[in-house]
Amino acid sequence: MSKSKIWLSSPHMGGEEIKFIQEVFDTNWVAPVGPHINTFETGLANYLGMDHCAALSSGTAAIHLALIILGVKQGDEILCSSFTFAGTCNPIAYQGATPVFIDSEMETWNMDPELLEEAIKDREKKTGKKPKAIIAVHLYGMPAKIDRIMEIGHEHGIPVIEDAAEALGSTFQGQKLGSFGDFSILSFNGNKIITTSGGGALLSRNESWIQKARFLSTQARDPAPHYEHSEIGYNYRLSNVCAAIGLGQMMVIDQRVQQRRANYDFYKSELGTLTGIKFTDDPSGYFSNRWLTTILVDPDISNGIYREDIRRALEKENIESRPLWKPMHMQPVFKDCIVYSTGVSALLFKNGLCLPSGSNLGKAELERVTRVIKEVVNL
Ligand SMILES: *Cc1c(COP(=O)(O)O)cnc(C)c1O
Repeated sequence: MSKSKIWLSSPHMGGEEIKFIQEVFDTNWVAPVGPHINTFETGLANYLGMDHCAALSSGTAAIHLALIILGVKQGDEILCSSFTFAGTCNPIAYQGATPVFIDSEMETWNMDPELLEEAIKDREKKTGKKPKAIIAVHLYGMPAKIDRIMEIGHEHGIPVIEDAAEALGSTFQGQKLGSFGDFSILSFNGNKIITTSGGGALLSRNESWIQKARFLSTQARDPAPHYEHSEIGYNYRLSNVCAAIGLGQMMVIDQRVQQRRANYDFYKSELGTLTGIKFTDDPSGYFSNRWLTTILVDPDISNGIYREDIRRALEKENIESRPLWKPMHMQPVFKDCIVYSTGVSALLFKNGLCLPSGSNLGKAELERVTRVIKEVVNL
């Protein structure tokens, strides 16, 4: 008998979504626009304590619009976390701009603020120009050293785009992630902490920026009875049907965070004492939503057990796990880009593994995962 598949992170509906969708159908707001989008935007802004929000078709689209609104053009340099998903930095290339990658610090695995500052100075010296923006990511829900990153951005007059795609519900010193940046972005892709099947959001305290984002996301239509365009636009708006799913998901965000954090606690209690398996706890003042539980496997102290031994053993049992993100500066497509490196993200990629972390996993499934890992490590 084949064992049922355990996914890394699958959608988890709360139950109310279908009622909002029914409402959409009953009122025939199946057209892309509609009232549910506005309610979803207000809900998100309130949840994060941000003033303005535009609901969009993806997190990647949100980053793209942020760059456009900040005036990013060909030849501009953008300082960007290297340890992330490609959605963070692909929009830099859409604009013909140049990513300059910043490596991680070991405590939170996110952008190293000291290296960021060094890079700003070095880029100014070498190019005679200030980088145009900073994109800082909170990976796996763990807050970056965002206070320092914001400080550095402000000191040098460089706007910060906060990529909180994986970090909805996380806090730094009590403040929600996604409320620090000059712009911040969220993702509601199917594997994220809440989902609209696909979707994203762009938030800011600057109202005109968010109005501009809505304008650009709906093909840049000037006010006129006919269709009049004086700028290039995009088809990036979230559909009203997806927003209805989002309204249902909004109701369970905090519950989802609790469930994912409980996964982390379970894994740590079962595996935390095994030789060579390391968990990264929240530093004091940092609260991670634990979007994905991650472990580091150190082959030097774990009887020669490698990350891939564990991943393959899980795969054989129909359990999905995945190596940590491969740093962008190591990706073939970005191989010629400049990187300010500490070597941290390369090391994390080599030894790190994401364990199944869905908020809908039951105890029996989590136990199936830990049983396999214990067997490998105790071999
Ligand atoms: C998922 C993700 C994105 C992109 O979001 P999409 O909605 O999939 O476009 C950007 N950055 C990070 C860190 C992500 O995990």
